[in-house]
Amino acid sequence: MSDDVKVLPLIPLRGIIIFPYMVMHFDVGREKSILALEDAMVNKQEVFLAAQRNAKTESPEASDIYSTGTICTIKQILKLPGDTVRVLVEGEKRGKINAYVENEHFMKVEIEEIEDNNSIKDNESIALTRMVKESFSSYIKLSGAAPNDTLISLDEEEDLGRFADTICSYLVVKQEKKQEILEATEPIKRLNIILEVLNSEIDILEVEKEIGNKVKDKIEKGQKEYYLREQIKVMQEELGEDDEDIKEQKKYKSRITKAKLPKGIKAKAIYELSRLKNAGSFSSEGGVIRNYLDWILDLPWNIKTEDHIDIKETRNILNKEHYGIKEVKDRIIEYLAVKQMSNSIKGPILCLVGPPGVGKTSIAKSIAHALNKNFVRMSLGGVSDEADIRGHRRTYVGAIPGRIIYSMKEAKSMNPLFLLDEIDKMGDGYKGDPASALLEVLDSEQNYSFRDHFMELDFDLSDVMFVTTANNLDTIPIPLLDRMEIIELSGYTSEEKFNIAKNHLVQKELEEHSLDNGEIIFTDNSLSCIIDNYTRESGVRNLERKIAAVIRKSIAEMVEKDKKSATITTALVKKYLGSDMYTYDKIDKEDKIGVVTGMAWTGYGGDTLPVEVAVMPGTGKLSITGQIGDVMKESAEAGFSYVRTNAKRYSIDEKFYKEKDIHIHVPEGAVPKDGPSAGVTIITALVSALSNRKVKHNVAMTGEITLTGRVLPIGGLKEKSLAAHRAGIDTIIIPKENEKDLKNIPKTVTNKVNFILAEKVEDVINNALVGEDNNGN
Ligand code: ADP
Repeated sequence: MSDDVKVLPLIPLRGIIIFPYMVMHFDVGREKSILALEDAMVNKQEVFLAAQRNAKTESPEASDIYSTGTICTIKQILKLPGDTVRVLVEGEKRGKINAYVENEHFMKVEIEEIEDNNSIKDNESIALTRMVKESFSSYIKLSGAAPNDTLISLDEEEDLGRFADTICSYLVVKQEKKQEILEATEPIKRLNIILEVLNSEIDILEVEKEIGNKVKDKIEKGQKEYYLREQIKVMQEELGEDDEDIKEQKKYKSRITKAKLPKGIKAKAIYELSRLKNAGSFSSEGGVIRNYLDWILDLPWNIKTEDHIDIKETRNILNKEHYGIKEVKDRIIEYLAVKQMSNSIKGPILCLVGPPGVGKTSIAKSIAHALNKNFVRMSLGGVSDEADIRGHRRTYVGAIPGRIIYSMKEAKSMNPLFLLDEIDKMGDGYKGDPASALLEVLDSEQNYSFRDHFMELDFDLSDVMFVTTANNLDTIPIPLLDRMEIIELSGYTSEEKFNIAKNHLVQKELEEHSLDNGEIIFTDNSLSCIIDNYTRESGVRNLERKIAAVIRKSIAEMVEKDKKSATITTALVKKYLGSDMYTYDKIDKEDKIGVVTGMAWTGYGGDTLPVEVAVMPGTGKLSITGQIGDVMKESAEAGFSYVRTNAKRYSIDEKFYKEKDIHIHVPEGAVPKDGPSAGVTIITALVSALSNRKVKHNVAMTGEITLTGRVLPIGGLKEKSLAAHRAGIDTIIIPKENEKDLKNIPKTVTNKVNFILAEKVEDVINNALVGEDNNGN
């Protein structure tokens, strides 16, 4: 056996590697290892330590143990409770197992010692040493794996191998890697592996550090804020001030006290405030509670304006603010007088019905003014969901109260005049029925405790004076209609429009534009020009807009030309508003064959409705085109049958229904509401076209027919007459049965228009066509 070969007891190490020059202790528990230790102690206190490939192997065989290990001297042995022994060893040299020596009690191995070869000190090894040192220095800084003075002792280390092994003892890397270093017997190779390991560890440690810093920053920021807040709190306490939360709660508390809420409502508000205290103002729950509290506090719970019903004064105000519409004013006065007598605002709800722009809203405002009530308006157009009226439950995110509560907040009193606009435009709800919710609102028996889903509180609407408006009664749900007192406002004649413009609209628009009366003057002709050529409506809404447009243009010109005042003439109107818009409304100036002016009644007022008939050779086809509904088609067919039966009377070829094609066309205009009233118009046009007799251009007509030629009554006579009058008609043929309605037609129209009453179709045709029929009529 050479000097380099030793036989030593072997202790397999689990999970640790011991390098030469390293002092370390570890615990030994396995019986074989303890026996090996005892053997070593009785010999030279030397033992061979080599790592197990797998730390979990309980009784390792030779193949389970790495062959390269470290020869160590045992420095100290400490018996621990149980059978464990703690050993302190110092690494001496590398060694390699040559062979396992037979032994029953413990493992014994023949070792070949390995010497480090340190002779060569070339530039490569110097450079390498420096690099390793540098990296090791960074590694220590990042990992804290060794005290800083380790570096100083390394500086003095001349021996390359020892230098490498010392560093190894500080590395925290996997066992396999350490074993690889241990097996690298050449110091240069060892240093290369160490450098590689150090650099990769440094990379990993840097990333770890970065992540660690970020996490730390976050935690620190949170802690800092918390700390600062606490500091503010303490300082505020010192200064006798409150923090934001408490300030806000105090604010609510004083608002609740000042608001003079009804008892139950106050209790609810206080309860919600206590919830706010618990939730904290900055939480999302806190936001919801705050919103709710604001709503409670913004409603006018105990505020009422002093009602003031003075019939005389009311009439004065209505007269002052509105031109004409005497019957409407009378009805309103009657309605209010009854209310005054019964000393209650309960009873039917006023419903103002009429085309747009006839003054429904402004009349309602005047009533509010006269009664000293606040005014609030809510449009029902397009409301199709019960939640629009009653709101959403608070459990919904972003829930708000319904429009009734919303408007009551706007109203700023519990007894306003509440205008429900366009009640006929309310949609059919698929999510609950808005009409039945509205019914509850309007019902004086129920509305003292109106419940909004959001508010969850009874709200008293019984002092509210509701007024509704509609263009059309047909689409109002019957139960609602039953509760209303209808007052109709029909359209205005040109004269009335002129007076409204002259006495009200011009002044109103001048005020809107901050001008004094007199700075811009409209000549009478200029107003008539706007009415006749630039508007085509029953009301005066467009007229008002056009006047505003003229005023704006005029102001621009005054500013540009540095003028102080202006007079609006017809020429200026034309200049400002461009070429006439509605010339086609005017009737033809000459008599024509097959063209008859009918009259229609739409939700937007009356209109003229021309009907044209063309006859051509053919096979008896009847075609109908243009603005017509089913009812009008039936009218056309009835008219056709009547003409066939009475062809001879009107000198019409009796075979026309076989040899001629007939085309009935209704060119333009709004879709009429009362289709059937075009019966007489169609017959007249057919007779004219088939008999080649001209129709008087100045005649308009309305009426339905039976197959036997009787003329039946129609609706909307006033609207229709106004429209025909506006269009320049001076003779209107109406059903005899409508004679009773003539009293409703303004004098300005009846004075200028000749109304002819027709019982039978002959009466219509004889008055409408030029020339005579075969009976000499
Ligand atoms: P509606 O509610 O019927 O659609 P508005 O009340 O909005 O109509 O009326 C449109 C404009 O016409 C308002 O400026 C209103 O003051 C004015 N107006 C309507 N009728 C009259 C009238 N008879 N006298 C004075 N101004 C009127």
